[in-house]
Amino acid sequence: MEAKECVACKTAFTIEPEDLVFYGKFDVPSPKLCPPCRAQRRLAFKNERSYYKRKCDKCGKEVISMYSPNKPYVVYCYDCWFSDDWDAREYGRAYDPSRSFLEQFEELWKAVPKISLIYVRSVNSDYVNISADNKDCYMIVESSNNEGCTHCYWIQQCRDCVDTSFAHQSELCYESDDCYNSNKLFYCKGCHDSRDSYFLLDCRDCTNCIGCVNLRSKKYHIFNRPVSREEYEQFIENARLDTAAGVEALRRKFHDFAIAQPRKFAEIINAPGCTGNYINDAKNCVRCFHSYDAEDCRYGVHVWRNAKDCMDVDTSGRNSEMMYNSINTGIDTFHYVSSCVSWSSTFLWYSYYCFNSNNCFGSVGLRKKDYCILNQQYSKEDFEALKEAIITDMRARGEYGEFFPASFSTFGYNESAAQEQFPLTKGEALERGYQWEDYPRGTHGKGTIGWDKVPDHYEGFDPTHHVFTCANCKRNYLIIPNEFAFYKKLSIPVPRLCPECRHERRFAARGPNRLWHRSCMCKQQEHAHHVDGYCSNEFETSYAPGRPEILYCEACYKTEFVI
Ligand SMILES: [Zn+2]
Ligand SMILES: [Zn+2]
Ligand SMILES: [Zn+2]
Ligand SMILES: [Zn+2]
Ligand SMILES: [Zn+2]
Repeated sequence: MEAKECVACKTAFTIEPEDLVFYGKFDVPSPKLCPPCRAQRRLAFKNERSYYKRKCDKCGKEVISMYSPNKPYVVYCYDCWFSDDWDAREYGRAYDPSRSFLEQFEELWKAVPKISLIYVRSVNSDYVNISADNKDCYMIVESSNNEGCTHCYWIQQCRDCVDTSFAHQSELCYESDDCYNSNKLFYCKGCHDSRDSYFLLDCRDCTNCIGCVNLRSKKYHIFNRPVSREEYEQFIENARLDTAAGVEALRRKFHDFAIAQPRKFAEIINAPGCTGNYINDAKNCVRCFHSYDAEDCRYGVHVWRNAKDCMDVDTSGRNSEMMYNSINTGIDTFHYVSSCVSWSSTFLWYSYYCFNSNNCFGSVGLRKKDYCILNQQYSKEDFEALKEAIITDMRARGEYGEFFPASFSTFGYNESAAQEQFPLTKGEALERGYQWEDYPRGTHGKGTIGWDKVPDHYEGFDPTHHVFTCANCKRNYLIIPNEFAFYKKLSIPVPRLCPECRHERRFAARGPNRLWHRSCMCKQQEHAHHVDGYCSNEFETSYAPGRPEILYCEACYKTEFVI
């Protein structure tokens, strides 16, 4: 154990013995920042959802980009960036041992052209970001191997989903979060192997259920009570879930019902030795949030689809091993230190936007290149010698192993994923060395129809001919043809919130990526392990103290709800 004080927030934090094992594997010193400050720093480099129209600086085409038009960087569209017309080694430079390596990296990083949006192997899916292997998708982020999905965040191997987040192998889902192997779930959260249901929370193997919580292997239930098929169908008809008013009425009723039901302290399923939240089929993942098919990871967010030995990462998956202090590292990757958005590569240090590259140090925008330092090509032997010299100098300066300084981010703090997890005001962000972006985002005042004019049915009404105005933030948005076909087929009313507000509502419902130590709230007299009627079990939960949810420990939850 090592007791430390965070150099940023001055909070005391502990380096645990298992942390030291990891640092030993990577041969990095223990970090200077506490775990939340480390996550905040990394997330400030990740713009997932702030988009602008701007011109490609190579071909002149107008594109959607993560970089606002006022940014002082050269930005290429996808086609230009991934073309063979340019080689990022043209920006290569010799390392100057008399200056700080990070300073030299910053100059290179700011000079090399940026990608408007990042995706690979997309078919008919131009407006996707930080995503790979998608087909016929529109505005999906952090997602792989999907088909026909619109406005989704973090979905894997899904088909025909709209407004769905954190879903895996699911189909025809709408406004749902954290769903696995499911079909036709609407307004659901935390469901596995379920289908044809509305407003479910934490259900498994359920079909034709409405407004239920904690059910296992049930059919035809409404608010956790069994009903006949006829009663179920009558309820659906009366509820008018094909209208906005019907959906909102049931949403309120379900919220009131769900808040009174006990829930497990964390969504951790088949995950021995794991702490955090939203963890499935994992082993020894400690303080991880959103993790499945992962092993031996620590302080990770989104460690998934065969991730092993990843520490302090935000997104490592699709065969990722030995990742440290990095963001967006996936698809057959091995051994990164402090790197960003680099896929299908091995042995990277302090590199950014590198693809299919190996043994690169402080490099930017390389594709299929090996043994580069500051984008300059070296032989294997020269690379190894210079890499060691730079690491030695960085260690002496106390920089090695630390992530890039906040000032290196090319995004405003308010454009980055950090703002979602660690909201700051403009003043606070600037004071801490982050940037802020005031360039206007989104379209306002262009709406062509008021909500009082939108009918409750699609007969003679085509929403793709209109510009809508978000009932919450007043931003304008469109319904695209694929999305309309989905709404029509499944009798879903036109959403009255813009895609951003819809995302924020689902995101807020997930709770923060933080943990608090709390106790079980179960008062069921008959539980065998209780003493004087009370359970003495404690746990780490991302439900903050004082929240209204009734939290049960694993033992009490299992006794009550798992057959
Ligand atoms: Zn801190
Ligand atoms: Zn271009
Ligand atoms: Zn909105
Ligand atoms: Zn308990
Ligand atoms: Zn109990």
